[in-house]
Amino acid sequence: MTKVTIVEEIMSANDRLAEQNRALLDAHGVFAINVMASPGAGKTSLILRTITAVAPHLTLGVIEGDTAPVTIDADKVLAAGMPAVQINTGGSCHLDAAMLAKALPQLPLADLDLLVVENVGNLVCPAGFKLGAHANIVVASVPEGDDKPYKYPGIYRGIDALILNKTDLLPYVDFNIPYFRQGIELLNSEAAFFPLSCKTGEGFAAWIEWLLAKVGVMRDA
Ligand code: MG
Ligand code: ZN
Repeated sequence: MTKVTIVEEIMSANDRLAEQNRALLDAHGVFAINVMASPGAGKTSLILRTITAVAPHLTLGVIEGDTAPVTIDADKVLAAGMPAVQINTGGSCHLDAAMLAKALPQLPLADLDLLVVENVGNLVCPAGFKLGAHANIVVASVPEGDDKPYKYPGIYRGIDALILNKTDLLPYVDFNIPYFRQGIELLNSEAAFFPLSCKTGEGFAAWIEWLLAKVGVMRDA
C-alpha cells in the first residue's frame, strides 16, 4: 500500500465518524461550532464571553481540546456554569472525529442548544480533520500579524466565520486590516468577518447576532 493510500483511508475513516457525530448532534437539535486558532489568540476568552452573552437565550456546552491533561480552560467554563468536557489529545496537535465521538456522550446533549468545541491551538492540521460541527470558525488576533492568511492558507479555506480578536491593540501594533482581509478574500469570499475585542466587548454584538441566527435556523428547521 502506498503512503498516499494510507493517508486517504485515514481521512475517509475520519469523515465517516464526522458524519456520525453530525447525525448525533442533529438528533438532539444541537448546533455545533469548531473553534480553531493559534495558541493565545483568545479562543477561551471568546468562549467565556460568548457564554455570558448567549446564556439568556441558549444552553451551551463546551468541549475543550488540549494537548496536555491540564483542565485550566475546562475549569473556567465550568465556573461560568456551563457543562464542559476536556479532551486530552495525549500530545496530538489537533482534534479528530473519533476524539469528539468519545466526548459527545459525556455531555447532556438533550439539554443543549449549542456546542462549542475548542480545538487545539494550531493553525495547520485542525483544518484537515472534520469533526462533524455545523460551522467552522477561526479566531485570529491582532498581535499575530496581518500576514497569517498568506502563510497558513489551509485553515481559512473552509471556514464560515473569521473573528479578529484583540482589536483594542490596533493602536499599538502594525496590523493592516485591508491587507489581512484581502488574504482571506482570495481563499474564502464567503466567510463572515467579525473584528472584536474580548477584553472591551467592542464588536462582540455582531458575532453574537450571527451565532444566534445560525442556532435559530437549526431550531426552526
Ligand atoms: Mg484555550
Ligand atoms: Zn495535528
